[in-house]
Amino acid sequence: MARDPRYDILFEPIKIGPVTARNRFYQVPHCNGGGRQFPTQTAVMRGVKAEGGWAVVCTEQCDIHYSSSTPHCVRLWDEQDIAYLARMTEQVHRHESLAGVEFVHMGYHAACFESREPPMAPSGRAGYGVAPIQARAMDKTDIRNYRRWHRTAALNARKAGFDIIVVYAGHDLSLPMHFLARRHNQRTDEYGGSLENRARLFREVLEETKEAVGDTCGVVVRFAVEELLGEGGVTVGAEGHDVVAMLAEIPDLWDVNCAEWENDSITARFAEEGFQEPYIGFVKKLTTKPVVAVGRYTSPDRMVSLIRGGVLDMIGAARASIADPFLPKKIEEGRIEDIRECIGCNVCVSGEFTGAPMRCTQNPTQGEEWRRGWHPERIPAKEGDDTVLVVGAGPAGLEAARALGQRGYKVTLAEATSELGGRATREARLPGLATWARVKDYRIGQIAKMPNVEVYRGSRMTAAEVRETGCSLVAVATGAHWRKDGVGRVHSFPIPGSEGANVFTADDVMAGTLPEGPVVLFDDEHFYLASVVAEALALAGRQVIYVTPQGVVAPWSTFTLEQGRIQRRLLERGVEIVVSHSVAAVDRDGVELACVYTGRKRSRACRSVVMVTSMAPIDGLYHELMADENALAKAGIRRVARIGDCYAPGLIAAAVQQGYKFARDLGAPMPERAPFRRENVELAALA
Ligand code: ADP
Ligand code: SF4
Repeated sequence: MARDPRYDILFEPIKIGPVTARNRFYQVPHCNGGGRQFPTQTAVMRGVKAEGGWAVVCTEQCDIHYSSSTPHCVRLWDEQDIAYLARMTEQVHRHESLAGVEFVHMGYHAACFESREPPMAPSGRAGYGVAPIQARAMDKTDIRNYRRWHRTAALNARKAGFDIIVVYAGHDLSLPMHFLARRHNQRTDEYGGSLENRARLFREVLEETKEAVGDTCGVVVRFAVEELLGEGGVTVGAEGHDVVAMLAEIPDLWDVNCAEWENDSITARFAEEGFQEPYIGFVKKLTTKPVVAVGRYTSPDRMVSLIRGGVLDMIGAARASIADPFLPKKIEEGRIEDIRECIGCNVCVSGEFTGAPMRCTQNPTQGEEWRRGWHPERIPAKEGDDTVLVVGAGPAGLEAARALGQRGYKVTLAEATSELGGRATREARLPGLATWARVKDYRIGQIAKMPNVEVYRGSRMTAAEVRETGCSLVAVATGAHWRKDGVGRVHSFPIPGSEGANVFTADDVMAGTLPEGPVVLFDDEHFYLASVVAEALALAGRQVIYVTPQGVVAPWSTFTLEQGRIQRRLLERGVEIVVSHSVAAVDRDGVELACVYTGRKRSRACRSVVMVTSMAPIDGLYHELMADENALAKAGIRRVARIGDCYAPGLIAAAVQQGYKFARDLGAPMPERAPFRRENVELAALA
């Protein structure tokens, strides 16, 4: 299909100093959990984005010196790091895109667990997170050294093949930002006090980078114009505006956003697409240089209006490029309906905290590009003449059917209910999770175009019916249900009284049941769902008592940058939060709560209880089929596999990945050796 001419503007080249981006799609620096531990995987992942049409593809933050050693990111401490970074630039250049590197010295935020160098900052202050570390105040020699390291890193980055150097003053994570922020800078010399003084280091490293490599490399500034901290932080009304005005024409491009990371990559639950526009909208008025910003943008119409409206020159993306590395190509080729839209869940972000190549709810090939050779768009054609029955059209079943269909297999997808999507559909009805529906929308849209995939709704399959289909392979994707008995992490056995009629599950609430208040909600799962259910109950006017054995609400959501917002929202909705307690027993009048430290018990009156503790697979059909192997053989079924929550309940991302994996390996048993390539560690000489 031809591209809609309305979108032509998105494909106009644009100059970034001495280099030219072939279109307006800019993959901003983003962490990915791979970094230097998985350099080949990360390089190939970046290359796939270039192949998908992103004209600029950046690294994640790159430490420029050993006194800033960040876990899970890349580094360019010295020449030793050139070779592996060159692998990334080579992958990006293959597709005629520009490779950018984001320089960072983390200042007081540097963990330095590896180098053991005490972190340094404009003024002495407590350091990294809650670690027992204090940053020392930088003296003039430190400042001179830092400027030299930055310059040397720029020269080394050019040797590694980078086209763009990003001078980073964002996310409260780098020295130029720390010098700028009054709360971090109490200096009385020429680097403290007035804005001009506090911006001095920023200006110096920017000018020195231009002087060092600006003849051949684009020099970009990534700057947080707003920290959402009020007067204590950089604000659009003060430094945010004034710094852009002061340095307006020095960089070759401005990449602007809100800080910290929690305020930049906000999940869809807490912020709309493009929520940063009111903050960054002023930048283009102050500079003639191109401006880029992120916004989880997936609609080309919105992108065009941002450029035509004088807000941006390039469309920045991290998450939208993770969910669909081929987003630009699809717009270019007039295949808008093929875009796999980011749902804004931040499961990708958790990769940075778990230190493994990140995964994506929408894109099961993310993190597998090199190690398994999975590609977001291409998949090997079918081998053999298997016909496949997929039972259950949740995320796992839909993805299996889609990917099998793409391979060319004849697929029958049978869904018990009249609605496709399983939990993606159910959860999307909860407050703030509407974008979850994109998981099914994308797949249903793709399947609809495949004549070789037949979909049957309202078809609850029995074992006998499965055997009658005549398919040679069966994927059982029948999902899981939330347990009513309270078994989870704290309780290995059912909670006494949990069988009562006043006890409900998250499934009941999603199905429209509204338990009588006051409601005790017991969260022993610790990600997002319990808090969303609590929100739904509170919005429906119920008094909610949220009980968690943890010290905070939804602790895993720290890794999706949501924990603070979740706890705040529950408090704002009037939810009472009881931490460090579990529900020990339920009766007609209420619950018995037990302190997880002392075991001390206390009663709490309530009318009903909602358990969000763990899920149980709905695998009866699978076991029934497997119980009669002769009948399977007679029916011509050569293999039955469980996928998704029916196999092991977990994230929607895991179910989608299982569906995709089934389409690739057709349910082959777990291999003995790891079914993916691993990076080889090069052993250094012993002495
Ligand atoms: P997953 O996350 O693993 O995809 P879901 O719970 O989201 O799991 O989806 C499972 C789907 O399977 C649901 O839509 C459910 O209605 C459907 N299902 C369950 N049992 C059967 C069955 N016997 N026949 C057909 N569909 C089924
Ligand atoms: Fe978007 Fe979620 Fe994928 Fe991240 S994991 S890119 S937020 S869909």
